[in-house]
Amino acid sequence: MRSLLLSVLVVVGIAGPALAPLPVRAQSAANALASGSTDMHWSEGASNCKTSPHSSLEVHYYNAQTFILRESLCVTFEAPFMYLLVGSTRAMLIDTGDVADADHMPLATTVMGLLPSNGSAKLPLLVVHTHRHLDHREGDGQFAQLPGVQVVGFDLDSVKRFYNFTDWPNGQAQIDLGDRIVDVIPTPGHNETHVSFYDRKTGLFFSGDFLMPARLLIDDAAADLQSARRVAAFVKDRPVTAVLGGHVELDARGETYAWESTYHPNEHALPMTKDDLLALPAAVASFNGFYAQSGPFLMMNSMRVLIAIGIAVVVVLIALVIALIRYVRRRLRTRRAIVSN
Ligand SMILES: [Zn+2]
Ligand SMILES: [Zn+2]
Repeated sequence: MRSLLLSVLVVVGIAGPALAPLPVRAQSAANALASGSTDMHWSEGASNCKTSPHSSLEVHYYNAQTFILRESLCVTFEAPFMYLLVGSTRAMLIDTGDVADADHMPLATTVMGLLPSNGSAKLPLLVVHTHRHLDHREGDGQFAQLPGVQVVGFDLDSVKRFYNFTDWPNGQAQIDLGDRIVDVIPTPGHNETHVSFYDRKTGLFFSGDFLMPARLLIDDAAADLQSARRVAAFVKDRPVTAVLGGHVELDARGETYAWESTYHPNEHALPMTKDDLLALPAAVASFNGFYAQSGPFLMMNSMRVLIAIGIAVVVVLIALVIALIRYVRRRLRTRRAIVSN
């Protein structure tokens, strides 16, 4: 998110991804998936966070090797989700949230505490991003100096280079966490650096700000449409347990909370579905490039909406000035008429 308002590689013995896509047998793969709990309960935040006690970071145990983390609404209205996947040889953290200061957001401490030990050290950790917006990478600095941690750069060149994308945004990459392969799919549109992740072990699809129960801010509609089609083709014959995005901004009825609201009563569930991914191409194809609602998808180009609001404000101001000038002139004419009489 965050686009409305507006690297380092520390190698831990892992080269970039180089695995070929595995043949897909949907049924057998579905049977082999590691199960987990999507019964999540997150803090609803508060309208006045100063008077409401809150924890800064919440953790949901999907299963013993998969964790869903969320920053509190009372620490940041973005309340982004982050995902920790643990393999047999290393772990991967998707996104680092919206808060840099470890005193306010103990992200690295929490994540390192969740990692199993590897001898006397912790399992190596790879930190990746869905995209470069600040609310998905502000916590990078907490990991930068930690031993055994590799933070992938967030700019487009770093993303292409790390995943070895030679024909961006086409192609896929794979990350091997040890007995756990994660596919990486370019999904630009919300942002030019956006990628999504598919975990073959659980069937979870991590969609960042590309798809989530929130306003879908689309900077580049043509790129977004191609991404939606690319993802739909990817998941078509694969089992998808749940689609997990970067934010929740809708209530259970599908209504949006106010911009920057820190209070989310009766919040929409985080998981979306494979059917949502399959329906996304048609929805994006119908997007007028400005603002549109199509089924569960609320799409907008935040920059154009802002420009339109700006133009409307200017028009109203001009109208007020013209009305004021006319009023003053009328008053002057009336006064002169009184004086001359
Ligand atoms: Zn975001
Ligand atoms: Zn974003």
